[in-house]
Amino acid sequence: MARYIFITGGVVSSLGKGLASAALGALLQARGFTVRLRKLDPYLNVDPGTMSPFEHGEVFVTDDGAETDLDLGHYERFTGVAARKTDSVSSGRIYQNVLEKERRGDYLGKTIQVIPHVTNEIKDFLSIGDNETDFQLCEIGGTVGDIEGLPFFEAIRQFAQERPRGQCIFMHLTLLPWIAASGELKTKPTQHSVKELRSIGIAPDVLVCRSDHPIPDKERAKIALFCNVREEAVIAAPDLSSIYEAPLAYHRQGLDQAVLDAFQIHPAPRPNLGRWEDVIDRLTHAEGEVRIAIVGKYTQLGDAYKSIAEALTHGGMANRVRVRPEWIDAEIFEREDPSPYLEIFHAILVPGGFGERGTEGKIRAAQFAREHKIPYFGICLGMQMAVVEAARNLAGMPNAGSQEFDHEVGATRFEPVIFHLKEWIKDNQKIARSVLDDKGGTMRLGAYTACLKSGSHVADIYESHEIAERHRHRYEVDVKYREALEKHGLCFSGMSPDGRLPEIVEVADHPWFIGVQFHPELKSKPFAPHPLFADFVRAAVEVSRLV
Ligand code: GLN
Repeated sequence: MARYIFITGGVVSSLGKGLASAALGALLQARGFTVRLRKLDPYLNVDPGTMSPFEHGEVFVTDDGAETDLDLGHYERFTGVAARKTDSVSSGRIYQNVLEKERRGDYLGKTIQVIPHVTNEIKDFLSIGDNETDFQLCEIGGTVGDIEGLPFFEAIRQFAQERPRGQCIFMHLTLLPWIAASGELKTKPTQHSVKELRSIGIAPDVLVCRSDHPIPDKERAKIALFCNVREEAVIAAPDLSSIYEAPLAYHRQGLDQAVLDAFQIHPAPRPNLGRWEDVIDRLTHAEGEVRIAIVGKYTQLGDAYKSIAEALTHGGMANRVRVRPEWIDAEIFEREDPSPYLEIFHAILVPGGFGERGTEGKIRAAQFAREHKIPYFGICLGMQMAVVEAARNLAGMPNAGSQEFDHEVGATRFEPVIFHLKEWIKDNQKIARSVLDDKGGTMRLGAYTACLKSGSHVADIYESHEIAERHRHRYEVDVKYREALEKHGLCFSGMSPDGRLPEIVEVADHPWFIGVQFHPELKSKPFAPHPLFADFVRAAVEVSRLV
């Protein structure tokens, strides 16, 4: 049976619970344990799939097609363990399950209540796969004291109570604010947060204290005393210059040791931190810098393209170079010539997105990259817009466009080079969709195989002829335009196994111009950079050497 570590937060949100969980997972792996990381989110959306990237940041997609919280991306990047549908749940999903059971009559006429029906549903979720790994790390979203979070806190309290002693521990993250006027770190908010937690029956075993100042021994002792936590289990979490420093930084502060002590695992296996030392070596011993323009729509919020930013960093690490990404709002290029903006960059990336706003600007960015032979990486919508650009400007189809945008205005302005896919095969089963479908969970989601053309640029980069990558889109390049586009130099170098769905396009007569229908960024890790990102950055380095 797995040991459980429940991770909660207090005082303020955005303390980096996800990162702390991911780093702890990596440290337990370094000591030879197997781990599974999971996230329980108190919001009422059934999943984040329909939430705006401005509200919630990126939607992270798993191989098995779940649309999940971006913290699952951290978990994967730090542990290399592929996240699954059952690694993420929200209050909305829990209530949906409970209400479906109620409608089916599963509760045999009982009155349905938060305790025990909702809390039992949460505990059933927690029990999934509890024989599979040594540890399950379960992060509770939000902050202790939030109304929505209460059923989750009650459920983890019950869960720990029902399991054998010593099988579950609680780790709580708080903030120690620095008061400049008196030159002191303040422990009172942490004391209050722990008091709140204890009032609902949860006593933390480990406290992780975020602060931008070192914690003096005196303060550490005070926190331990007032919060009823051992002094060695009060862990300082200083601000870091890179998130990838977290495993080594937490190790130095004694986090993994405190966790193993709390479980009374003695003697603790010695950690092998070689993987993380190498990651830090690559980050800190980078030579030179490449500038990459990311021409997108959700540019005000860094988290909206979290995995892309991380995958570019990994690409830089693979080439021992620093990547400086710059986010440019695609709409600017609808009013202004892109040249003065884009000519200072060594490569251009157009990421995924939804809706028409900014797409004409993305098309102009693709055109600029193609004509000026600057490396271009189009991801999902970025690939679709590169195909529209080639159709308009190379294959003589001035009205080429995507049905996605016609659908929004209810007209047919465009020749639908990108069309709404209504039927496809997944795992030998036919999936059917209609324009009337709900928006949530109805896209082509999760891992699909693509066959790569021999001799193509991508087959070379992947060193393979068959790949599996994660998808999240409703629209596709219509294969009926393949011949017309190939005649004009756009090569369809990756196709679905049945040959119906274009997965990758590339411009043959160009140093690096690749569009992919999937999201390769989701699978990149600091210790295993994705080959497309590693090679894209390599191409950018070459451009930087020429100028
Ligand atoms: N909006 C496009 C589609 O649904 C692209 C989606 C994306 O970039 N993830 O097909």
